[in-house]
Amino acid sequence: MIPSVLPTYNRAPIAFIRGEGSWLWAEDGRRYLDLGSGIAVNALGHAHPALVATLTEQAGKLWHVSNVYTIPEQERLAQLLTENTFADTVFFTNSGTETAELAIKMARKFHYDAGHPERIGIVAFEGAFHGRSTGAIAAAGSEKMVKGFGPLMPGFVQLKWPASEADLAAVRADITDQTCAVIIEPIQGEGGIRSADDAFLKLLRQRCDETGTLLIFDEVQCGMGRTGRLFAHEWAGVTPDIMMVAKGIGGGFPLGAVLATERAASGMTAGTHGSTYGGNPLGCAVGAKVTEIIADPAFLAEVARKGALMRQGLESLVAGHPTVFEAVRGEGLMLGLKCKPAPADVVKAGYDAGILTVAAADNVLRLLPALNIPDAEIAEALTRLDRTATTLEQAA
Ligand SMILES: *Cc1c(COP(=O)(O)O)cnc(C)c1O
Repeated sequence: MIPSVLPTYNRAPIAFIRGEGSWLWAEDGRRYLDLGSGIAVNALGHAHPALVATLTEQAGKLWHVSNVYTIPEQERLAQLLTENTFADTVFFTNSGTETAELAIKMARKFHYDAGHPERIGIVAFEGAFHGRSTGAIAAAGSEKMVKGFGPLMPGFVQLKWPASEADLAAVRADITDQTCAVIIEPIQGEGGIRSADDAFLKLLRQRCDETGTLLIFDEVQCGMGRTGRLFAHEWAGVTPDIMMVAKGIGGGFPLGAVLATERAASGMTAGTHGSTYGGNPLGCAVGAKVTEIIADPAFLAEVARKGALMRQGLESLVAGHPTVFEAVRGEGLMLGLKCKPAPADVVKAGYDAGILTVAAADNVLRLLPALNIPDAEIAEALTRLDRTATTLEQAA
């Protein structure tokens, strides 16, 4: 018999009932150190006092009004985001997937309005993840996500993630004056914490400028302070035309945003797009508080420092457990451990050691702690990962 909850997830038999900072308590009373953060969602940890206060205060005032009215909390968050980024304008969604939909629509509408309705081609990359809508799975194109769900939305190609000069030249050649947009995660999350290096992102920006192609950065996972900058692309010194944001921006409340330049967004006039819940007062009040905290340069400097500290510990872990871990990947507090065993087995062994991690593709174990994780808990995480590795070695 089918379970009452549609069985689309491979769930662990652990149910959490309470969280505080980087810790989660399960029904059976066991405490776990959370290095997954709901997959980069709980950016400020669980039950952050300022977020609890903001949410409960807003909950007592107003939950929802339609987007046919002006929503001050939305305007405030949009202003914070435009002040702190390349963007001139923001549309709010409830999830990352919805930001993919709008990014695709916005790019196509831009060329349509410019008199090029034929210009629909969108270049994406292998290993990408942009969400689960039919548009987002067409963009990422992985067999696992698209099989059985066709026909897919036309116009997408997936290029090889470049590993050489020849690959870079191929990427250049595949972006032409017929391309509508390029969509890329500056650091692939689900794909296994794969960073696009600065030269690659610069090449994309340059080629998009040469051909009139719009550049879309999917910063749903790598954005909102995760790398030690507010957005990961800032390290490379290039900006996109359109950017997708979600996960961390709500700190646990469902919230997403599409940020864009005035030019890229020019086709999205009244009536061309909308959402019932997107940008509701609850989500935007919390999002503004999260953004205020994370966009503070002193906070971001701390993320970078903590990231370096954790990375150093992970390098020692790799050196000490060569049959379990191969290498460290990532930036800031978006870190990955390339594993020798299946990462799902490492995640499972971690449960026994009281630590929560997340598996990704390319045999990588993801570590996405709260951005404000205390140093003592970074040390505790390293101890628990060490214990996890030792258990796996003994079992081998
Ligand atoms: C999680 C994720 C998405 C999809 O977000 P949902 O909120 O699950 O719809 C899109 N892009 C990236 C890079 C993600 O990590």
